[in-house]
Amino acid sequence: MIIALSGGVGGAKLSFGLSQVVAPDDLKIIVNTGDDFEHMGLHVSPDIDTVCYTLAKIANPKTGWGLVDETWKFMHATERLGGPTWFQLGDQDLATHVLRTERLRLGHSLSDITRDFSQRLGLTCAIIPMSDDPVRTEVDSSLGRLKFQDYFVRHHCEPVVTKIIYQGIERAVPSDSFTQALSDSRLKLIVFCPSNPFLSLDPILHLPGIAQRVRDSKAKVVAVSPIIGNAAVKGPAAKMLQELGMQVSAYEIARYYQDLLDCIFIDKIDAHLTPLIEALGVKVVVSSILMKDDADRTRLAREVLEYSV
Ligand code: GDP
Ligand code: CA
Repeated sequence: MIIALSGGVGGAKLSFGLSQVVAPDDLKIIVNTGDDFEHMGLHVSPDIDTVCYTLAKIANPKTGWGLVDETWKFMHATERLGGPTWFQLGDQDLATHVLRTERLRLGHSLSDITRDFSQRLGLTCAIIPMSDDPVRTEVDSSLGRLKFQDYFVRHHCEPVVTKIIYQGIERAVPSDSFTQALSDSRLKLIVFCPSNPFLSLDPILHLPGIAQRVRDSKAKVVAVSPIIGNAAVKGPAAKMLQELGMQVSAYEIARYYQDLLDCIFIDKIDAHLTPLIEALGVKVVVSSILMKDDADRTRLAREVLEYSV
């Protein structure tokens, strides 16, 4: 059995690969909910939706988020009425948010709703929110304290970040399915997908007790670096590392998680970092970790799996 910790786009790519090579009952994908927020009265869970849409092969391949063949009539009508347009909600995507919000109001848990939606999209592995309790990522920045989506979408990640806060995390309980997966005697491997360390993995790892359980687990813990060379493949990971006074390199990712990791996959262009990383006590696998297509995702997932045996 395998646990994958995932954010949105980068996490979904490797999660897709894992879903192609792991038996459905053996794959538990734990998804960040620190990006969740209420918008226009709707509960939006961006990373859960990105993972579900990607695994169901209905994600928009250009953006990595949202749905393929989307239309935007709702957005145009919203604009005409003077409503907010900074956060894009496609017509089909809207159904997800409306139905999720309604069911949350009826008292269903985010875990139950996610299980139902993912099954209806044809997925057979488990997509598990990290918690059913609200955790809301915020950043202290050059523009003051910003809610995550204000930083990420409204301000395009431009403000300089000095600190990251996970509101509610100390009171949040990891979801039952997450805790059960960590206790499962069949657990062989915990994968840190190549997700943003601060915005996607840390909210999961900072939930009460989780880092300790990962550290104590008998399972191998393997990360795929989200940093290749001195850049992130997408998004603000590199910019944030720099702003927080860290190096932008796969070595820094290994150093940041050295207490938790057995191994890190780094890119061929970073092969020279191997002795430096191994001096931290983290093993290195050098591979091609840029996932350009489904074949790359599946190949990399297979290599990560091989590490557990
Ligand atoms: P978000 O929630 O949509 O921001 O997505 P994640 O946090 O899951 O992923 C963002 C991270 O994925 C960024 O730091 C990227 O560098 C990384 N990433 C995206 N595509 C790839 C890829 O093909 N290979 C690797 N190694 N990292 C990637
Ligand atoms: Ca995200």
